[in-house]
Amino acid sequence: MIFETLDTTGHEQVVFCHNKDAGLKAIIAIHNTVLGPALGGTRMWPYPTEADALKDVLRLSRGMTYKNAVAGLNIGGGKAVIIGDPATDKSEALFRAFGQFVESLGGRYITAEDVGIDVNDMEYVYRETEYVTGVHQVHGGSGDPSPFTAYGTLQGLMATLNRKYGDEEVGKYSYAVQGLGHVGMEFVKLLKERGAKIFVTDINKQLVDKAVSEYGAEAVGLEEIYDVAADVYSPCALGGTINEQTLPRLKAQVICGAANNQLANNAIGDEVEKRGILYAPDYAVNAGGVMNVSLEIDGYNRERAMRMMRTIYHNLARIYEISERDGVPTYMAADRLAEERIIAIGKLKLPLGRTAPRFQGRIRGNH
Ligand code: NAD
Repeated sequence: MIFETLDTTGHEQVVFCHNKDAGLKAIIAIHNTVLGPALGGTRMWPYPTEADALKDVLRLSRGMTYKNAVAGLNIGGGKAVIIGDPATDKSEALFRAFGQFVESLGGRYITAEDVGIDVNDMEYVYRETEYVTGVHQVHGGSGDPSPFTAYGTLQGLMATLNRKYGDEEVGKYSYAVQGLGHVGMEFVKLLKERGAKIFVTDINKQLVDKAVSEYGAEAVGLEEIYDVAADVYSPCALGGTINEQTLPRLKAQVICGAANNQLANNAIGDEVEKRGILYAPDYAVNAGGVMNVSLEIDGYNRERAMRMMRTIYHNLARIYEISERDGVPTYMAADRLAEERIIAIGKLKLPLGRTAPRFQGRIRGNH
């Protein structure tokens, strides 16, 4: 049953991690290491069943392969899930036991934070393994990725405007930004600096007030965001907001934002295309976070991170070329770009896990 699933999903390795004393039940899924060691965060979640946990880790790890490949990184795709409630089940022993399993993979899988896990949890993982990114800055970590994600989203936006309108004058257009969290607020700031007209919404009123007072944005209701006359709809909150109910309401001709999994399903992606709306594939646009964290493998450097964010422009431009070349919607073109890169680089037959020794250079602080 499991191997049948793996045949379909194309995973290389799935590791079930169990430590009774530490209360650890975790699954590490390595989807693809053709481009390099598998990088992807660890999620802690009270999954109702083990099957739910497995399904999630397989889906998320496959997504990381595509995201890392399109981002142009020498990194493959993986992900881990810890079954448990982040509010009640965390302990030093749990994370150290998990770290020992990560270590046992010898660098084929490199972990990071994801939903339910914070930088303090990662400190425990880091005691047992160096194959961790997203640790505290005192250990050479890269810190909060959100400003980089916002800047990368701006690069993706410029490529998308260029494709749609033939110019990159961000300030000429109007924006409906949904979600003013870590990424959304920073993105609004960047838009404002370029003189754009911005509509905003968030369930948190304080954040809306801040966007209005500091960045001159116009506040709209949570539902109204789908109806405003803006050129660009920018989802920066939750996934699935482009769906059967919302799509007919959108006035925007461009969709470009940082949220993950924006399209409710592929059929909606096809419909977006049919309506002549240009959709900037989410995982290509929001790759700033993973790009930032990936630099920890070589030794983090902020300058390099900013330079790397600018490659998102070219990645988007390439996706639009493939979309035109093959006559397929942009969400599909992004997947093709990933697959083509994996095949082309795979032919070079790079040794697996070759970046791992670089970790040896990292100074392990007294933690
Ligand atoms: P965040 O939690 O800081 O912000 C999300 C914001 O959305 C919050 O302010 C929340 O109040 C608001 N929100 C939630 N539901 C809403 C709704 N129905 N309508 C309007 N607003 C709503 O998260 P973030 O780090 O800013 O990430 C935003 C999105 O970008 C997420 O989908 C995340 O997965 C994705 N993303 C983030 C990064 C990163 O570097 N932080 C990287 C890649 C992708």
